[in-house]
Amino acid sequence: MAPEDWPNLKAARNRANSLIRKFNLTPPVDVKTLLLERAQVEYVDWPHQCDAVTVLSEDPPRVFVRDGLPPLRERFTLAHELAHISLAWHIGTVNCQVDPALIDSELPVTPAAGTQEREANEFASRLLAPDHWLRPLVKGLSSFERSVMQLTLDNLTRAEMSAQAGLIALSRHLLPGHAFIIDQNFATSRGTMRPGNSPLSDAEIAQYLEQSVAVEEFSHQGRTVLWALTDDSSFPSGRYQWQSDDTRTPHQVLISCCSRVFGEDSAQAKAWSINGVVGGMTNTSEMDWHEEAIISVVRQRISNTAELREILSDPEFLLYLQKRARAIVLKRANPSK
Ligand SMILES: [Zn+2]
Repeated sequence: MAPEDWPNLKAARNRANSLIRKFNLTPPVDVKTLLLERAQVEYVDWPHQCDAVTVLSEDPPRVFVRDGLPPLRERFTLAHELAHISLAWHIGTVNCQVDPALIDSELPVTPAAGTQEREANEFASRLLAPDHWLRPLVKGLSSFERSVMQLTLDNLTRAEMSAQAGLIALSRHLLPGHAFIIDQNFATSRGTMRPGNSPLSDAEIAQYLEQSVAVEEFSHQGRTVLWALTDDSSFPSGRYQWQSDDTRTPHQVLISCCSRVFGEDSAQAKAWSINGVVGGMTNTSEMDWHEEAIISVVRQRISNTAELREILSDPEFLLYLQKRARAIVLKRANPSK
């Protein structure tokens, strides 16, 4: 399930943001105190794999945390349990194993429990690395400058998250094209080609780096991190030469594309689906969108949507995207119009 089609994921994010505003929190967020104010917390030594168990039916809720977790994983786990307590629709007893590789996965592991786990991770990530704190750190970071990224990573350590959890949070604010590889795991910004599924094989990593435009290596929180800038080379590139007398609206251009590719009968319905994809993606993200970023993200999403993918073959589709992206950027600059 894509984040833009997942209202409870957005609600989890908003809940974390409102806690941050209410208590004026900045990194490192004292998550333990926040949790202790709302729950009975007990550390337990147990043999099973679970990181924590929260019993939401008790008042106050009871949280059992596995004793001896590495400190940064413990912090994320406490924030994750705080999520189950703070999100009213999470009920019953939850067994949590916080896998850093799945923090931002778009597909829940299992339908019911997986959905809530993903929502709790979203909350935890936004609480420990607040949007209002991260956004200015990466504003305009689109070029490939090693010193700027080094400074950003140094700042990121203040959030006291694991290297991977921190990079996933950072990636949310980066424009398309950025990927980080941390051992066999990775984090990519939206609209960026993914290297595969975690854990990555050496061959997958090598192939991904081979295709990248540039790669830099960093030592970050004791881990080796590769930062790769990728290029969306599977699509025709370059700007469509737009005729100056072409006064068609984006929607009119889209309808012509859809008629050619899908036939007159289904053109309207397909056009609305594509419109929905563009609107959903650009509405829900907090990024500073510019035209190229919108085009890249939308193309990536459509190429992953089997029933719409064929539209990418139409030569005028890029014209539609450019017109639509321009309209979105203008509207964001002048929201009243
Ligand atoms: Zn959980």
